[in-house]
Amino acid sequence: MIDLALGGRESYSELCFPWETPPAPGQVQEVADGILWLRMPLPFGLDHINLYLLKHEHGWVVVDTGLGTDQSKDVWERVFEEALHGEPVLAVICTHFHYDHTGMLGWLVDRFQCPAYMSFGEYQAMFVTPPKGDKPNWAFDQFFQRCGLSSEEIAGFRPVLTQTFYSIEAPSSFRRLSEGSELRIGNRNWRVVMGSGHSPEHACLYNDEDQLLISGDQILPRITSSVCVGVTEPEANPLGDWLESVRRFRSLPDSVLVLPAHERPFHGLHHRLQQLQKHHDDHFDRITAALAQPMTTSALRPVLFPRIKNSFDLLMAVGETQAHLNFLLNRGLLVRELRGDAYHYSLAGAADQGQFFAEDIHV
Ligand SMILES: [Zn+2]
Repeated sequence: MIDLALGGRESYSELCFPWETPPAPGQVQEVADGILWLRMPLPFGLDHINLYLLKHEHGWVVVDTGLGTDQSKDVWERVFEEALHGEPVLAVICTHFHYDHTGMLGWLVDRFQCPAYMSFGEYQAMFVTPPKGDKPNWAFDQFFQRCGLSSEEIAGFRPVLTQTFYSIEAPSSFRRLSEGSELRIGNRNWRVVMGSGHSPEHACLYNDEDQLLISGDQILPRITSSVCVGVTEPEANPLGDWLESVRRFRSLPDSVLVLPAHERPFHGLHHRLQQLQKHHDDHFDRITAALAQPMTTSALRPVLFPRIKNSFDLLMAVGETQAHLNFLLNRGLLVRELRGDAYHYSLAGAADQGQFFAEDIHV
């Protein structure tokens, strides 16, 4: 899965960005003593990912790796020479399994024969290959039919899901990161703080002494992280996990410098968490306001994501609309009814509340 900037652009005037401009593509910028911010180019609308290089004794620890392409390899080769001065990579940490974060992981750990650190959930997720619709697959068809999509729209997803111009190479072993894991890198202690919703067990790294938070895609300054339901787990409630993570990250100090995987480092963690909560609350309000009569996911999609340019946008927008609907279903605020091939959602009446699991199992 590739990250997506569909989720709306918030006002970010109340955040403070210490660096006005990012490093040029493929270049580094020091953001704290012994921490380099590497701007790795990506061949998408979202045209970069931020990787962080942490100085350790006699080498470096890399956080996230870039997409598996020749372009990324070229950048890394230059970085080894110019920024790391020929010192080795001693370990690679991946915040989560998405391919812009893990694409070069296998290559890096093989090259330096060094360990890969990830959470168990993210390592496992690298091996899950969801149906792509390129072979007959009832679960793939049924998921999108139940969202209310047409067969033309479903057919349009196939080229999006099967195109691979980048390589995916999981390492054959890993070392596990869990909530509260401590890593000593250079002269800093980093504590792992887990998030969820954008991916299963997303690891962020928090350093208390210097008030630093490497946040991956869990907390981004302007775009909102995609939170999607897909074919693999149609009844999942990732938005429930996401909002719970937003609540938990409030326990970190507001003074941290957030080092995100996209856009620029910023101050203003608590304000940003509030914005993220509000973004989804607004989406819930829009859905409930639209439901004067029963509607499908596909019919509700433009209420949240009116601007769709292509099948990729549609795929992500439907997945994220479904995430909001599953959240509201799980809260007992909506009910759904299977009419023909598609679920139709309506507001729950008082008598319906809490009945979702008891009566809504379709096979
Ligand atoms: Zn991601």
